[in-house]
Amino acid sequence: MSKENPVKVKFYNGENIPLELHKVRVVQKLNLVPVERRLAALYEGGFNTFRLSTKDVFLDMLTDSGTNAMSDQQIAAMMQADDAYAGSQSFFRLQKAVEEVLKKKYFLPVHQGRAAENILSCAYIKKKGGLIPMNYHFTTALAHITQYGGRIVELLYGEAYNLSSSHPFKGNMDIEKLEQVIRETGVENIPFIRMEASTNLIGGQPFSIQNLREVRRVADKYGIRVVLDASLLGENAYLILQREPGFEHATMAEVIALMTGLCDIVYFSARKLSSSRGGGICTNDETIYRELEALVPLFEGFLTYGGISVREIEAMAVGLYETLDETMICQSPQYIEYLVKALSSQGVPMVTPPGVLGAHVDAMTLCGHIPQTQYPAGALAAAFYLVSGVRGMERGSISNQRDEEGNETYADMELLRLAVPRRVFTLSQIKYVEDRMVWLHRHRHLIGGLKFVYEPPVLRFFMGGLEPVSDWPSQLIAQFKKDFGDSL
Ligand SMILES: *Cc1c(COP(=O)(O)O)cnc(C)c1O
Repeated sequence: MSKENPVKVKFYNGENIPLELHKVRVVQKLNLVPVERRLAALYEGGFNTFRLSTKDVFLDMLTDSGTNAMSDQQIAAMMQADDAYAGSQSFFRLQKAVEEVLKKKYFLPVHQGRAAENILSCAYIKKKGGLIPMNYHFTTALAHITQYGGRIVELLYGEAYNLSSSHPFKGNMDIEKLEQVIRETGVENIPFIRMEASTNLIGGQPFSIQNLREVRRVADKYGIRVVLDASLLGENAYLILQREPGFEHATMAEVIALMTGLCDIVYFSARKLSSSRGGGICTNDETIYRELEALVPLFEGFLTYGGISVREIEAMAVGLYETLDETMICQSPQYIEYLVKALSSQGVPMVTPPGVLGAHVDAMTLCGHIPQTQYPAGALAAAFYLVSGVRGMERGSISNQRDEEGNETYADMELLRLAVPRRVFTLSQIKYVEDRMVWLHRHRHLIGGLKFVYEPPVLRFFMGGLEPVSDWPSQLIAQFKKDFGDSL
C-alpha cells in the first residue's frame, strides 16, 4: 500500500528499513530497572501507567504529546524569545507561521489542545447544549463537550471498527449518516461538526481529502460549521500523500492547505503538531474570531501568549514550518509501520493498516480470556510494562467515561497504544519492543484482569487506581524468570 520510503533510499537486500534523515546530538540516559522493581512500581502506581515515575520506565511509549524530539532550529529559536506580557514579537512570528502553514489569518493561542476544546465548547455549547457529530471522539474533547451540556454522535463507517483491515482511511465520516443525523436533530441543535485528523482513539487512522470535501458539501448545504481537530494534521496529510489516489505527487504544504481550507475553525495541540508545548485556534472568519476572542484572556492569558511561555511560542512557530518536511513527518509513521508489520507477522493482533502516533495492540483479541469488565487493555498495558519496562497507554474502557446515570460504558475497542514519538527511539529499541511483545503474546494466558480501587469522576484514566483481580503478576514474573534468567 505505502509509497516508496520518502527518504528515497533503496536497500540492496530489498528490506524496507526506515532510514532517518537526522542525527542525534543531545541524548538522555535511560534506566532499565529489574523486574521486581517494576512490579513494585506497578503496585505503587495503581496498575496505571500514567502514574509511573520515569525513573522506573525504560522506553516511554505512553504518548507522543510533548515528547517528540525538538530540532536544533527549534532550540535555537527559543533563545531569541521576546518576553512581554502583551505584543511580544514571538507571538507575531507564531501568527505568521500559522498564516503560512495553516493558511488562517486569525489566531488565538491557548496553553494546550484541550484548552481550545474548552473555549469552543464554552462558546458554542454552554448556552444551548446540542449535538456534535464527529468522526470519533477524543477523551478531552468529549469531556469538555459533556461538561458544558452537549452530546456527541460518532459517525465512522463500519469498517473503522474492524481492527484488522486494509482500508486506507478508517477515520472517514459516514456521509449518509451525517445527513440523517442533521435531518433528525435539526440544524439549530448542531453547533458544529468535528473532524479529527488521524483519528486518535481508533489507532491514529486518517481521513481522506475526498471525505472531508463531502463533509464540507453537507455542512454547506445545511449551513453548519466544520471544526478540525488538527493535533495530528501532519501525519494525516502524510498518509494522504501515501494512500489517496490523485495525491501521489502533491506536497505536504498543498495537502495541509487543502485540509484546513475545507474547515471553518482549526484547533490543535502543539504538543503534537509542532513538537513543543501550547496549542491554538485559528480561522479566516472574523465573526468566529470575535466570538472566541474574549475567552482567551478569561481562561488562558493575554491574547499574545495564551498561557504559553514565549520560548515555547518560538519553538511552536518553527515546529509548524517543520511539519511541511515530509522526511521529518514520515519518521514516526515509518517506525510504526515497521513495528506493526513485525508484530503482525508473528501473530500479535495489531490494528491495521498501521496508523500514526503509535502501534496499537488489539487487547480484546490478545486478552480474549479477560472480560471487558476487567479492562483487558489496562491489564495488557500493566503486563507489558512488567515484562519490558516499556510504558504504553491503555486506550479502552478505562479511558471511557461513565454515562449520565453513572453507568460504566465499554469502549468499542480495547487497545494498548505504544506511542512512537518522532525522532526519539532507535530501531534496536523498536526491536526490543517487538521481542518482548512476542514473548508476552506467547504467554498471554498468564495475564489477568484489573479492578478499580480509586475512580476519579472526570478523566478517570489519568489518576485512577486499580489492582489485579488475582495474583497473576507473580505468575507472569515466574515465567519471565524461567525464560530470561537474570536478564533485565
Ligand atoms: C492530544 C490531543 C488533544 C488534546 O491536546 P492536549 O495538548 O493534550 O491538551 C486533542 N485532540 C487530539 C486528537 C489529540 O491527540
